[in-house]
Amino acid sequence: MAVRAVTVLGSTGSIGTSTLDVIARHPDRYSVHALTAHSSVNDLFEQCRRFRPVHAVLGSAESAAELQTLCRGEGLAVQVHHGAQALNAVASDDAVDTVVAAIVGAAGLLSTLAAAEAGKRLLLANKEALVMSGQLLMQAARQSGALIMPVDSEHNAIFQSLPATETGVSTAGIEKILLTASGGPLRNLTLEELAVVSPQQALKHPNWSMGPKISIDSATMMNKGLEVIEACQLFSVDVDDVQVVVHPESIIHSMVSYADGSVIAQMGRPDMRTPIAHALAWPERIDSGVEALDLFKVSGLHFEEPDTTRFPLLRLAFEAQRAGGTAPAILNAANEVAVAAFLNGDVAFLQLSALVEQTLECLKISPASDLSTIIEADSIARGTTQRLIAQAAA
Ligand code: NDP
Ligand code: MG
Repeated sequence: MAVRAVTVLGSTGSIGTSTLDVIARHPDRYSVHALTAHSSVNDLFEQCRRFRPVHAVLGSAESAAELQTLCRGEGLAVQVHHGAQALNAVASDDAVDTVVAAIVGAAGLLSTLAAAEAGKRLLLANKEALVMSGQLLMQAARQSGALIMPVDSEHNAIFQSLPATETGVSTAGIEKILLTASGGPLRNLTLEELAVVSPQQALKHPNWSMGPKISIDSATMMNKGLEVIEACQLFSVDVDDVQVVVHPESIIHSMVSYADGSVIAQMGRPDMRTPIAHALAWPERIDSGVEALDLFKVSGLHFEEPDTTRFPLLRLAFEAQRAGGTAPAILNAANEVAVAAFLNGDVAFLQLSALVEQTLECLKISPASDLSTIIEADSIARGTTQRLIAQAAA
């Protein structure tokens, strides 16, 4: 069996480290071609020592120089680069078979697109890229023959619940996608209680261990909103064919309901190494390091309807997808700015949805037909949300 060369974009993050944990279990199948981080020089150095990539990429010239010095000291031959061009290069390099897109937020858009255009097997964790530019990304993959494998646990579960074809999955005969949501750490709080939630409280997810941005998105349920849009793009379904089901145990990772009354679900422990291993090896199966699910230890499986009065970002995401064009990119950009401000202690929890709603109300929606329109919408939305935050503080 040929060893597949893998680039991990965002290798120092939560998804990046889980990916490397799976890869380390299969040296006969995978080699690491490139690893990238933004500013975590020491973590990236440790990964270079362990995985011996050909290339490493950081966000700035200073951090790249620091890593270069550390690698030379250790006698490592890794070539160190910095900046957006270098990310695109390691995502589209001819020597690479598989690219794991695990940078957080819009910062991952261009390198994710580069991998899709270059026809790679693309393990997609960076849902923001798909929310911003779903049509372009899916079209690029169709044209190049890239295989997009969803890493997001829900979308990976949906993929596993759909019939496989030569080139992916078919949605023939489906009635609805049932997208499960844990409900996040604040699921049972009243609006009064939500008003005074601190970043520390919002960061404490009951079932999953994740990076800070997605943890806040889980607390507001924006994560589920982004995932609704992600499902529409990945599986070419209408937004009204996606139903969110709150399932606090996070054992069922999503389901597909069919015209004949069948409902197919994928279950497992809440550990991202399962969908990562599936996406790496499909259509084969490999060990992920995740223990089998012990059904006798599962206390029960519960299901509820989501409450969009307390979690309005979920409603706003449905509305943005219905509006189409640049609306999802505006929604995403406003949310990224609002989440950063919340983590910084500059805005209160309930302001997150208000800021996104106001930004969407302020801006004109255009058709998302080309990349420059999407990038412009992202940039204008960021400026608008920042202005709204400044006005509220004044
Ligand atoms: P983390 O914050 O843990 O990691 C983000 C990674 O991206 C790090 O390697 C970070 O480098 C790098 N990075 C951050 N900013 C930039 C930038 N401006 N340019 C280049 N690289 C950058 O995030 P997660 O791993 O939690 O999430 C990654 C993506 O996967 C997100 O889109 C998220 O929605 C998605 N996802 C995550 C899940 C999870 O369980 N964590 C589940 C499903 C989806 P550095 O360390 O130097 O900052
Ligand atoms: Mg998810």
